[in-house]
Amino acid sequence: MKKYCFRIDDISWDMNYKNFERIRDLLFKYDIRPVIGVIPNNKDEKLRTQSQGNGISEEKLWDEVKMLQKEKGWSIALHGYEHRYVNNESGMFNVNKQSEFAGLSYEEQYEKIQNGLDIFSKHNIIADAFMAPGHSLDFNTVKVLHDCEINVITDGKKALPYCKNGILFIPQINPWPWLGMWGMDTACFHVNLWNDALFERLEKYIKNHRKNIVNFDQVVSAMVKDNRVTLYGNGAILIAINNLSEYYLKGMQSLIKLGANVKHKLLR
Ligand SMILES: [Zn+2]
Repeated sequence: MKKYCFRIDDISWDMNYKNFERIRDLLFKYDIRPVIGVIPNNKDEKLRTQSQGNGISEEKLWDEVKMLQKEKGWSIALHGYEHRYVNNESGMFNVNKQSEFAGLSYEEQYEKIQNGLDIFSKHNIIADAFMAPGHSLDFNTVKVLHDCEINVITDGKKALPYCKNGILFIPQINPWPWLGMWGMDTACFHVNLWNDALFERLEKYIKNHRKNIVNFDQVVSAMVKDNRVTLYGNGAILIAINNLSEYYLKGMQSLIKLGANVKHKLLR
């Protein structure tokens, strides 16, 4: 049975707080702990207009984020620094052609991530993970995160969580939870513009498939020990299956390629 964890993107004081309250209360009701991507210093005008005038004060936002982390066990991801795209780089996952990080030097990326972490620590918040704006990051980002002791990234294009360069990647492929036979994915919710129908659709999914939903912090704790990504317990099993799935996919791709070559030769 495929497992899903949930993430909520674009959390800032100038988000659509009414919609955030709605999804927050829904997840409280079903005891689901997601990861939320908090923008330390939002400068993204597009996101501001999406809030439809339902923003809150900075103070209220930080109090709430602190409460969610300390009292409710929600995971908090650093969602960039300003959420402002500075180039057309799509980074290692090639999802969007825009980035706040990919394509920049190590030093430039370090400064942004450290500035974001400084704002978090000023408000007593620990970064449990990193969530790249636009899913766009590169190997310099990974190096900076490792040096700043953030060892979890909510992104990745494999069928299960995997470890690379000392970082745990928790896959994010489908924006909405689908049913599947096996594997793990992260549903990615941008709630600023959600309407009643979407909230109802999510509640219906949760009611019918609660056992398929896992808490983000539990996925991390299965694979990270003493602040280091390790292969043990469930993590080892997950990684073994993941590697097998990779070989299986590669094998299938070679067979398809071989089949295409044979067909091509026969046609000539
Ligand atoms: Zn975002």
